Formats: sequence, structure tokens, C-alpha cells
Amino acid sequence: MRPLFRAATIIGAGLFSLATYAPAQVAQEAVDLDVVRRIREEGLERSQIPELAGYLTDVIGPRLTGSPGMRRANDWTAETLEGFGLQNVVVEPWGEFGRGWDNMYYSGRITEPYVQILQALPAAWTGSTDGMVKGPARIVEAGSTADLERYRAKLRGAFVLTREPQPIEPEWQPRPLRSSLEDLLAPAEVRERPQVDPAQREQMMQRWRRQRAMRDTIASFMQDEGIAGTLSPSSRTYGILRVWGGSGRDPDNDIPAAELVVAHEQYGQIYRNLERGIPVQLEIEVVNEFYEDDLQAYNTLGDIPGSDLADEYVMLGGHLDSWYPGTGATDNVAGCVVMMEAVRILKALDLEPRRTIRIALWSGEEQGLLGSRYWVQNHEELWPKISAYVNVDNGTGRIRGVWDQMNEGAIPVFEQILWPFRDLGVVAVKHGNTGGTDHLSFDRVGIPGFNFIQDPIEYSTRTHHTFADRYERLVIDDLKQAAVVVAATVYHLAMRDEMVPRKPSEQDTATN
Ligand SMILES: [Zn+2]
Repeated sequence: MRPLFRAATIIGAGLFSLATYAPAQVAQEAVDLDVVRRIREEGLERSQIPELAGYLTDVIGPRLTGSPGMRRANDWTAETLEGFGLQNVVVEPWGEFGRGWDNMYYSGRITEPYVQILQALPAAWTGSTDGMVKGPARIVEAGSTADLERYRAKLRGAFVLTREPQPIEPEWQPRPLRSSLEDLLAPAEVRERPQVDPAQREQMMQRWRRQRAMRDTIASFMQDEGIAGTLSPSSRTYGILRVWGGSGRDPDNDIPAAELVVAHEQYGQIYRNLERGIPVQLEIEVVNEFYEDDLQAYNTLGDIPGSDLADEYVMLGGHLDSWYPGTGATDNVAGCVVMMEAVRILKALDLEPRRTIRIALWSGEEQGLLGSRYWVQNHEELWPKISAYVNVDNGTGRIRGVWDQMNEGAIPVFEQILWPFRDLGVVAVKHGNTGGTDHLSFDRVGIPGFNFIQDPIEYSTRTHHTFADRYERLVIDDLKQAAVVVAATVYHLAMRDEMVPRKPSEQDTATN
């Protein structure tokens, strides 16, 4: 017995956080340290992360689902995976997504009370202006349909501000870019699914439906009144533009009016001047393109075929789609190139996994995990055969551990597989849930789905869905580390005698 495999030693060492978990027995994982050494050497010394990430961000660019950029990314990743020697590489439709969209042109300036560039970008899936439009900015404050009447015949040709600016305080306490050992090893706050009583839930739903109906009413009132467009504040400060999407994705909807996301500080200035009664004049031109030729969206997948357990799968993935203003570097070229590099490493070393290792690069994640959810739905026959799915989608930070996703049986498996990477900062197998990305599509049908824990770097503060999310924001050495950790993880999961244990409550439904 090699000391690394002694679970008791690992637990005793206290490096991994066991939280509430104390297993009566721990099965030994056959961790192949020679393979680990070779994976580290290939991934840390001959990494292709810079080339992969550079091409996806700088050449292919943003990858809004349904856009030409997303199609190019699907094709390029498929070709690249084939070049690595993967088999069964497909660009596979998962279902109908809706209209594609791209921004072709934007120019804007404020001409009164003094001339300045309007630092803004169109929200995705919103419409164009009618050429170059000169018009006033106007605040519309409406809580009810009656309120709207006050604005009748006053909005023609105006750019409308419907949101009151929210103050964003300075960061009095700058957030750390890396997680501390102490935080990583502290037990996570385990939140069970909140038990909302049905009556309360119905009330919440009704309130939400009323709010949405009111928003729709305001939007159609303004459109009927002939507004030139709407302005909304970016949710990030320091001039960082962070966009979202409008209602034009749904092919049943009319194309909404032009909507610009304006720098937080400039939006505040416009709003304050209007409140002072000082006129604000704008000059804006927006050209957006909608694509309706193919309403479907696609995932890219490929396999390293297994040997004696080839009909079982270990999957790894991340989402290839992004928001548009940057190039989606940390969200989520980072995760995609980590996964691509991981399979490249395994192929380069000519390793022969027992189970088939399948990489999946999803689309439609940003609109609700759609690509992964529909893929899982479309492949129900594979559910009992998928041992586990692992995901990277929390930015550019190196891997510090993994969540067990409330699957305690997986803890000793990951603790032993990840043990050889503690010197690279991988220290925590945490008992708890993490959400927000594609592993949930697997977890919800009882397939063990996991998302790695990463250092936060600038993800939530600067890069997530922003104009700043570009190649410069990638920490290449961290991504090399992540690829090595993922390569070893999927390799060892693919070599185990048994599939990854499933959650007890789901064992019966998922394994037969
Ligand atoms: Zn993401």
C-alpha cells in the first residue's frame, strides 16, 4: 500500500475539509502516481492553453448563443478536438433556442449640457435605432398603468430611463483574489433546499407575474409612443459595461426598441441632471442584426473511447457560449480550454481509459443551462451509464478543490484522486452545493455532477459578463494547473472498478 492511498492518513493530515462527513469505511482509490507525474509534465511544460484560449478569444471572439461567433466556435472546437485524436466528434443540435443576434455598430454621445462620448453598449436581443437619432433623455417612473398616462404624447423620439440609479459603494475591504486555506477548509454552510409552502410560493409567483406584466406594459406603451430607445445602468462601476439580454430572442416576440446599457457613473449623471430639470440631449445610432435562418443551437462533443467499460462514460465540460461585449474569456473560455487541454493531455500520453471519456462544450448556458439540460434530456438512455460529470465555470482561478454536491459517497473518491495536487493548491473536498452552471443539469436527474472550486480572482468584481472579459484577464498558469487536475480526475474516474457512488435517494432510479 502506497502511503498516498491510505485514507486514514489523508483524513488525519487534516488538509482536506471533511465537514460533517465521517465515513465508516473508505474504499481505496487506485491512484496511479506515474500517470499523475506524466500528466503534470505534459500539462505544465507543454501546455497548449495559451494557443487555445488565444484563438477562442482573439480570433473567434464573443459567442452569444445563436450568433455567427457561436457557430464558428462550435466548428473550431470540433476540428481542434479531432486534431487531438478524439473520436465521435460532433456539433450536435440540442433544440430550438430562438433568434440569433449580433451588434454591428454603435455610436453615441451626449450633446447637452456638454459634449461627451456616451459610454454604452446595446443589450443583446434588442433592436436598432432608426439611423442616427437625436433626442432628449427622459425619466419614466411608472408603478401602474395610470402613472403611464402622465407620459402620453411626451416620449416621441426620446431615450427613456426607467431605472433609478442604485449607489455602488467603494470597496472598503478589497476582496481577496485567492481563497485562504482557512476559508477553503472551513465547513461550508450547508443549505438544504428551502421548503417554501405552496401558498407562499403561489403568492411569490403572482407578484413576479404582476411585475413582469407591468414591465411589459411599460415597454409596449413606450414603443407605441414612439420612443427612440431606452437607457439602463451597468451593474458594475468604474465604467465597466456589463450587459444582459432583451426579449427579442423569442421568435414570437416583436423586436424590442433599442436598449443601451450605460456606464454606471454616466447613467447617474444623466439621471441627476434630469432631476435638476437640466435637459440632456443625446445622439445615438445602433445597428443590430437578428438571425432567423436556423433557430436551433448546438453543443460540441467528442470522445476518448474506453476499453473494457467503453459503454460507460465519465464526462467533462464547460460552456462555450458567452455574453457578447468582451470575448467571454473567464466566462467561459477558461473552463472550455481547461477541458480541451485535459483531453489533449490524455491523448498526448496515449492513456487508455477503461470508461469512455466524453468532453462536452455547451451552448445556451447563459440563458438557463439550456445546452446541457437539453442534451441530458435528449440522451436519457445514457443516464445509468454516466458515472460522473465534472465542470469548470467559475472564472480563471486555479482549482482549489471540488464540491461533493451533497453526495457524501463521492468525498473519499475525490480526496484520494486530488491528494497528489495539494502542492498545487488543491486542498478542499467540500460537503455542500454549488449552483449556477451545467453540472446541475446532470445532478437534477441523479447523475453525479460536480463543479470545481476555484480561486475567485476578478470574476464577480470585474469580468463576469463584462466588456473587460478578455484574454488579458486570464491567469494562464492557473488554467494550466486546472487542466492537469481535471485530466487526472477524469482519468482516475474512468479507471475505477465501480462508477462514482450516487446519492442514496437517487440510487434506485438512476441505476436501473
Ligand atoms: Zn459561465
